[in-house]
Amino acid sequence: MIKIKDVYFLKSCGKISEFPEYEYPEVAFLGRSNVGKSSLINMLMNRKRLVKTGSSPGVTKTINFFILNGSISIADLPGFGYANVRRGLKKSFMPLMSRYIAGRKNLVLAFLLIDIRRLPERHEKEILHLLGKNRIPTAIALTKCDKLSRGKQAGRIKDICGELGVGQGALFPTSAKTRSGRKELLDLIADYAGRRREALARV
Ligand code: GDP
Repeated sequence: MIKIKDVYFLKSCGKISEFPEYEYPEVAFLGRSNVGKSSLINMLMNRKRLVKTGSSPGVTKTINFFILNGSISIADLPGFGYANVRRGLKKSFMPLMSRYIAGRKNLVLAFLLIDIRRLPERHEKEILHLLGKNRIPTAIALTKCDKLSRGKQAGRIKDICGELGVGQGALFPTSAKTRSGRKELLDLIADYAGRRREALARV
């Protein structure tokens, strides 16, 4: 498991032209507003306030970049799909997100976050489709699992798999509250970031 030695906020970008240019393998976090994305990133990184939680849903439309252990880039994508988002803002989400997914060469792994209590909707399906089309390895991180009993979780996992047309192996139950799923997600990050580095070393 990766040891979190050092993690810092690098920059916030609203346009592709502003994205940082480096060789670091990048791991992206995507999910609808309020899914628990900020809490999950903070939990993984062992920081209370690296990412601000509970911020006005749907207002942020920039991608925030962080550097982990001086060697892995973490991209926190804007939360999508919140009903109260003004139409103009909502419109600007998908283009930035899809351009990021299609064009970001550093991207080695994406976490699509889904609240275990909700069924995936159009946005999640569209994003999953986009990630697949661009051959980006994707793991579904189920958030807030502490809110359901083990038995109920199992039922939800089946339903979500059915909705998305993916196998259970793609789903990772997590909780920012109990910190469950932390090892599994950090292992995935280490694995995919490591592969990218090996590939670069061979060039
Ligand atoms: P974001 O909008 O996706 O970044 O979501 P936040 O991380 O700000 O979380 C939204 C709300 O869900 C906050 O009130 C959090 O306290 C709560 N929350 C986030 N993760 C968990 C979790 O694992 N368990 C529980 N019970 N609540 C959570």
